[in-house]
Amino acid sequence: MKNFDITIIGAGLSGPLMATYLSEKGLNVDLYESRVDMRKNLDQSGRSINLALSARGIKALKDIGLFDNIKKNLIPMKGRMIHSMDGEKSLQLYGKNQKEVIYSISRSFLNISLLNHVENKKNITMSFNHKLSDVDFEQKTIFFGKKKVNFNRIIGADGFNSMLRNCILKQTDLKFRSDQLGHGYKELTIPVSESGNYLMEPDSLHIWPRGKFMLIALPNTDKTFTCTLFAPLKGSNSFEKINTSKEILNFFKTEFPDTIALIPNLVKDFISNPVGKLSSIYCEKWNYKDLAIIMGDAAHAIVPFFGQGMNASFQDCTVINDLIDENGLDLGSAFKAFGTEHVPNGYAIADMALENYIEMRDSVNNSEYKKHRELELFLEDKFPERFIPRYSMVSFNEIPYSEVYRRGEIQSGIIKDFISGKISESIRDKEIINKLSPIRRNNNNKARK
Ligand SMILES: Cc1cc2nc3c(=O)[nH]c(=O)nc-3n(C[C@H](O)[C@H](O)[C@H](O)COP(=O)(O)OP(=O)(O)OC[C@H]3O[C@@H](n4cnc5c(N)ncnc54)[C@H](O)[C@@H]3O)c2cc1C
Repeated sequence: MKNFDITIIGAGLSGPLMATYLSEKGLNVDLYESRVDMRKNLDQSGRSINLALSARGIKALKDIGLFDNIKKNLIPMKGRMIHSMDGEKSLQLYGKNQKEVIYSISRSFLNISLLNHVENKKNITMSFNHKLSDVDFEQKTIFFGKKKVNFNRIIGADGFNSMLRNCILKQTDLKFRSDQLGHGYKELTIPVSESGNYLMEPDSLHIWPRGKFMLIALPNTDKTFTCTLFAPLKGSNSFEKINTSKEILNFFKTEFPDTIALIPNLVKDFISNPVGKLSSIYCEKWNYKDLAIIMGDAAHAIVPFFGQGMNASFQDCTVINDLIDENGLDLGSAFKAFGTEHVPNGYAIADMALENYIEMRDSVNNSEYKKHRELELFLEDKFPERFIPRYSMVSFNEIPYSEVYRRGEIQSGIIKDFISGKISESIRDKEIINKLSPIRRNNNNKARK
């Protein structure tokens, strides 16, 4: 059997991207996926239908030469369109102008494009219907049920329930936790209008913030919108309480009255679509010796409220690629560095994603938040090299997430102190200069430390 340099488990979003980066270095890659080839049998059950793609993901797709091919299938979203209870709509831009956008993209389209891209590389082999079941690290053997395969080095891109992660945890006493959010999600569809158009503005991410729960909608290229209801699993206004046609209609009529006309199959879809659960994964190390690493959701699954799970997973690929170069193609050293140095970034985006749920479902509506946001934009304009709003650092830059978190906390502290009258305008500006060092925008910052 051919001795592959690297074995990757999982051909979801990040596995094929990682495989392409590695093959460009001349490494041989063997990619295994538990499901059937989705290009032949598209089963989207339990997966979000569309995703928000932003700077970190775009950088990786450009690096592997795929971005230009998929560009025409991206829908730019310039901000959040907030739907209030009385049906009023207001747009909150994501960035400092309409050019700073994130993009809606179909998950299946992107996954299929990645698989097709991989198919053209002669030093990558792909095997579907191969579900990793065990690993013997001593013997460098992996098991797919009864089938045994040798490996040289292995990468787990096998998602939230990663088997490679489980095998590493069995060998070690690493700290690991999976925090359940206690909230779930359900997807619904706003169809295309009778005249063949979008029923709402396609250039925004629509949000119906309602305090403890919210509905969002992202545009699709077929002029439909995919709506996602995020709500508690138990308690009042929870998935547990909304089951019958009457309960579903009452809930939507009370909380999202303007959507009744937009979602004609509301009751049918609500009853037949599953409730997805949401959790964050924190794992203190992402490598096993110099033999194995986990990446993407396997290492740091996060709640979807910053639209960063895939973007962070793609950035992992960039970081691993850079580390292999920096270590002169010494894969073992690169694995050890990735498994320790990049972990704080995973923790930081997991925490920021949780914080963003509260912002999206609640704060966006209150006047304090709006004042804070206004001031953020003003200060960004005044100190463009030092003060970048947290959302922009995450979505329009590649600044390491842990650094984003650190700077975001300083910025938010300064704004709060100024708004509450604790500090004057001149102290505010001095603090910005003293505490926030200049930082380059839209750069290729090493996304590690
Ligand atoms: C509702 C929702 C909305 C989201 N929205 C966004 C968004 O807007 N923007 C964003 O950036 N992210 C978003 N995400 C997150 C994003 O979906 C994930 O972060 C991303 O899919 C992670 O990629 P991955 O390659 O690590 O895992 P996956 O894409 O899950 O791929 C893992 C692959 O491994 C395979 N596999 C699993 N176990 C095995 C095994 N034992 N053997 C072999 N193969 C195996 C699976 O079949 C799968 O193909 C969202 C997630 C959810 C739930």
